[in-house]
Amino acid sequence: MDTMGKVLISEEQIKKRAAEIGAEIDRDFAGEEVLLVCILKGAIMWMVDVAKNIKKCGVRFDFMVVSSYGASTKSSGVVRILKDLDTDITNKNVIIVEDIVDSGTTLKYLKNYFEQRGPKSVKICTLLDKRLGRRVELEADYAGFPVDDLFIIGYGLDFDQLYRNLPYVSYLEGSEIDDLMHKDKSVREINE
Ligand code: IMP
Ligand code: MG
Repeated sequence: MDTMGKVLISEEQIKKRAAEIGAEIDRDFAGEEVLLVCILKGAIMWMVDVAKNIKKCGVRFDFMVVSSYGASTKSSGVVRILKDLDTDITNKNVIIVEDIVDSGTTLKYLKNYFEQRGPKSVKICTLLDKRLGRRVELEADYAGFPVDDLFIIGYGLDFDQLYRNLPYVSYLEGSEIDDLMHKDKSVREINE
């Protein structure tokens, strides 16, 4: 039986950080336009928070759905695009908005995918950064909070599509989660 751990990051902390990151984006792109690309479904809450705090740029939204084929909860490096951008990103400032960077595989793939389409710039904005999970070299330009190597849920992040609605970041613990996290037995598709 899996149980929910304590609150790791509260809604207040997230809102405060979103304001700081919105201000950073304003500083970096003042007077320009930015295209925020939300990686569904996990990044939805975080994208809304950050977007509301960008005040000196023209802001456009776009959405992508991608899946990583992973052994258990760990991405294996195969990324599939289920819904592509609607926007032509030529000469645009693109900010990819993600829920969490773990191995870094998904974002490395996406960054490269975008860079081949002639944008003016490509940045990464993530709510959470699970540094211990990293398997490829990847740095987020705007990162909300570092997290330990736990199975994180809440504020957009799911386990089996549940818990996305929690207004805080927490984690799951228990034998099922331990199996998923450490044994790499089953292969499942992670829907972002
Ligand atoms: P990466 O390619 O390993 O960086 O995978 C990142 C994706 O895996 C995220 O966008 C999430 O969808 C998922 N993911 C990684 N760690 C967690 C977690 O702790 N909880 C929920 N989803 C996670
Ligand atoms: Mg995701």
